[in-house]
Amino acid sequence: MSGAKPGADAPTRPAPMERGGFYNERSRLQAGGGAHGLPAIARAFERMPLGDGPVTIADYGSAQGRNSLVPIGAAIAETRARLGASSPVSVVHTDQPDNDFSTLFCLLRDSEDSYLGAQNIFTSAVGRSFYEQVLPAGSVTFGWCSYAIHWLSAAPIAGAGHIWCRLTTGDTRRAFERRSADDWLIFLTHRAAELRPGGCLVVVQPSMPDDEPSTFPVLMGWAQAELDAMAADGTLREAEAARMTVLCYERYPADVRAPFANGDFCGLVLAEDFLNDLPDPFWGPYQATGDAKTLADQYVGFFQAPFRPSLLAALDPDRDTSFRKAFADRLESGLHRRVIAEPQPLMTPLAVHVSLIQKR
Ligand code: SAH
Repeated sequence: MSGAKPGADAPTRPAPMERGGFYNERSRLQAGGGAHGLPAIARAFERMPLGDGPVTIADYGSAQGRNSLVPIGAAIAETRARLGASSPVSVVHTDQPDNDFSTLFCLLRDSEDSYLGAQNIFTSAVGRSFYEQVLPAGSVTFGWCSYAIHWLSAAPIAGAGHIWCRLTTGDTRRAFERRSADDWLIFLTHRAAELRPGGCLVVVQPSMPDDEPSTFPVLMGWAQAELDAMAADGTLREAEAARMTVLCYERYPADVRAPFANGDFCGLVLAEDFLNDLPDPFWGPYQATGDAKTLADQYVGFFQAPFRPSLLAALDPDRDTSFRKAFADRLESGLHRRVIAEPQPLMTPLAVHVSLIQKR
């Protein structure tokens, strides 16, 4: 399933996560990162006036929902501690229009971890980019956005020629940097409109210390080497290979803080922010077991769920299903082989940045 419209000018936008619950099953790293934002939810509710309710909780970039259950459940619990056990709460999950929302709603119905077990919770979804206003002005009490805002709104240039934006150089790299800075401002501007006075937003994003030039240099270097090999032997057309960029660009803490350098931004205040280390979730267990195949499965699983759809979206429209499958299989088995040949921590350097933002 491709997210962006295929063709000569594709992909201009990030594709949604791999469908059918695949992302839900293979997003342990993101779940672990999101957990760093939970204490900020409690502190947000300490700061917020709730009046008599009802409370509206918005989840920006929900994907298929598994990693939203704990934070949204925590926000509901905070609400109910203040307003009573059956106070009505509206939860709005938002994502791109082609996100797999069916999996999300089935999860909410079926999972024993679903927050829908409690009474008087009303769930809905918005299929629209968070780089637009997606909810009425002044309607959101609390917003949560985890592992989503590092996805750029669109490619700033066609044919960046590398799978990982942060591993590009020169003008190309600068174009991504500018787009990332602009996107953060656009995102904040729309959230400023949607939040109620006093409402809070917690944003959790992958990040890294200021002196690290890129996340995942080895893993993404290997992925690029596999793509280069397929371009060299004619499997991929030159234009397809050039378009194969995953539109993620992680921000340094200084980038997150930049809009608030002189105080408020659009009436939003940065109440607190912090950077935590995010240990590689797969490397520790591997050191105990020495099981390189499991390690490779985990790293490749991490790669597939968020990134494979973007690469498939970059293929020309005449590529049929069997070509698409063969392409993805070759890339992923290449990565698998490389992990087994040279086991090493691939989810580094990576940290998680949390910001708690409040509307005046
Ligand atoms: N919040 C979840 C999912 C993160 S995956 C978690 O913590 O695991 C990133 C999600 O952001 C994807 O579902 C992707 O479709 C979504 N996303 C990327 N760009 C977006 C945009 N412009 N508007 C809305 N959602 C977007």
